[in-house]
Amino acid sequence: MTEPTLPRIRPEIAALPPYRQGKQAGADAFKLSSNENPFEPLPSVLEALTRTTPINRYPDATAGALRARLGEKFGVDADAVHVASGSVSILYQLVLATASVGDEVIYAWRSFEAYPGLPLVAGATGVQVPLAPGARHDLDAMADAVTDRTRAIIVCTPNNPTGPIVTSGEFAAFVARVPQDVLIILDEAYAEFVTAPDAVDGLAERVFEKHPNVVVLRTFSKAFGLAGLRVGYAIGHPRVLDAARTTAIPLSVTSSAERAAIASLDAEAELRERVAVIVERRTRLLEGLRAQGWDVPDSQSNFVWLPAGERTDEVAAAFVEADLIVRPFSGDGIRISVGEEESIARVLAVAASLR
Ligand code: PMP
Repeated sequence: MTEPTLPRIRPEIAALPPYRQGKQAGADAFKLSSNENPFEPLPSVLEALTRTTPINRYPDATAGALRARLGEKFGVDADAVHVASGSVSILYQLVLATASVGDEVIYAWRSFEAYPGLPLVAGATGVQVPLAPGARHDLDAMADAVTDRTRAIIVCTPNNPTGPIVTSGEFAAFVARVPQDVLIILDEAYAEFVTAPDAVDGLAERVFEKHPNVVVLRTFSKAFGLAGLRVGYAIGHPRVLDAARTTAIPLSVTSSAERAAIASLDAEAELRERVAVIVERRTRLLEGLRAQGWDVPDSQSNFVWLPAGERTDEVAAAFVEADLIVRPFSGDGIRISVGEEESIARVLAVAASLR
């Protein structure tokens, strides 16, 4: 068969691997590859989803009810809140709004696998700053990497996929060093799992008030268990968020998703109890792996990082063989989500067999 002539794709886009999910789990397997919440949805959230929705009508383009609710919760104006179909959408919107051809976007590496695509889609250049020992952000090196072409910097805390946080003190010193006209995206997708008292919390500290160049990102996908519905939000200066609203694909937050997010906020106390259960499992997993001699960095999130280096593919295959679907990053390490109770012992058993 002859190959059809295809439309020309921008070479930098063609060079980028398409975003792919971890393997889907079979019936007996634990899916520990996407940092999802292992608990069943709450009945009240399901009820909100099925409440009569006029699906022949478009949703509210501004997700006004959810923005008002989040504004109330965090003590900011609804205009200081932006909602989109997942916080990953907001990452794209903010980078498209700030960076263009010849501009630079700085982020740590290794970090969230969606980051490398962001500057490329905008036609800009990504600048990766290696993590410091302990798999932590090297914020001094990231500030050193700023040039007059830098338009945005992404700071991920806790860092996906390695787990450690950025402290309040580190973040304050970093913000003080970054020019005020450079956007800082503080990606706190896993904030609700953090227990370290010195961790930066962009919302509790209201960093965006003193520093309008800081936008804080949060999501309903992890602690709130709504990954499949796609709802994330940003809090920051209204004029900065207007730029994200401008580059957003209109109407992409469905009314069902908006309603389920509000129902989750109504049930926050119950959802926080589940978060506490995950945190307790995380501690057992982390301590168990360390006791086996794995050099696991501190995790303040709902996953742990196994730095398997050159053995990564082999180690990941052993987990998959045991029906544990984990996320390998070839040549570097494996990210394992903290999932169902029964998965903890199984992960520890497989990890022990590989020492
Ligand atoms: N930021 C980080 C650091 C993430 O790990 C993820 C999800 N894996 C996201 C953002 C995006 O989450 P969502 O689009 O589901 O809100």
